[in-house]
Amino acid sequence: LQVAQQQQMSELKDLLLMNLSHELRTPLTEVYGYLELLRDYRQQLDETQQSAFLSSATKGCTELIDLIGSVLDVTDLNHREQREPFESVSVAQFVQELIDHWGIEAKQNYAIVLDIPEKLNVWAIPQQVRQVLRNLLSNAMKYSPLQSQIVISARYLDIERGGTFASPVVCISVKDEGPGIPPSDVPLLFNKFVRLKRDLAGTVRGTGLGLYISKQLVQAMNGRIWIESSGKAGEGSHFCFTLPCFAVKKEM
Ligand code: ADP
Repeated sequence: LQVAQQQQMSELKDLLLMNLSHELRTPLTEVYGYLELLRDYRQQLDETQQSAFLSSATKGCTELIDLIGSVLDVTDLNHREQREPFESVSVAQFVQELIDHWGIEAKQNYAIVLDIPEKLNVWAIPQQVRQVLRNLLSNAMKYSPLQSQIVISARYLDIERGGTFASPVVCISVKDEGPGIPPSDVPLLFNKFVRLKRDLAGTVRGTGLGLYISKQLVQAMNGRIWIESSGKAGEGSHFCFTLPCFAVKKEM
């Protein structure tokens, strides 16, 4: 068994390295290219061109930082012994703050709608909820057409099925108007490194780690995460996750 496990580990590591080097190379080549142009042709470029090249190089760096961040998150998930404490989190306030801090450019490119009642609190780890929402929202932006609508909503769900006792939960969701997820791809979607075929060949970059990380984080907060989508273009994806409701927890 040990040999088989080692073999599996080694295959996983190969996969990780292959995927990583591929994903690192593209933004790195971009950064390098722009810096090289600036180094060699600075005299011939006017100020506008210079600053455009610099911001392209910086954008490439941001992508690299995000990428390394996701990889570290995955390693961290496996080794995390002590988590940050659970707190009562006001969903409306929390999401508003997240949106306020989102880059202005991205916000201008989409119609973001919030549909969250006041006084809806969850019992969760704020930093982890932020990370999950960030993943879902940035996916909605990455994969949907510019100027399309993205709705972030939250509602109280009476019963969480599956347990012996009904435990009240809040369901938070991000709905976009993008290409959606074909039903046949849904079962594997939350696994490590899974990207849809159309995106492997496409121009949108990604590692296939965001949804995997989100699932681990939601589960660690006693929730679950899923996707609702017809898979038809334009009908979009609707990603939902649950978290324990705080108000009721207090009464128990
Ligand atoms: P990444 O976006 O880095 O590739 P994720 O784990 O976040 O990784 O997503 C996995 C895959 O699921 C993506 O590569 C994409 O094919 C698909 N996907 C995720 N979110 C959406 C969405 N909102 N609309 C369409 N496809 C999506």
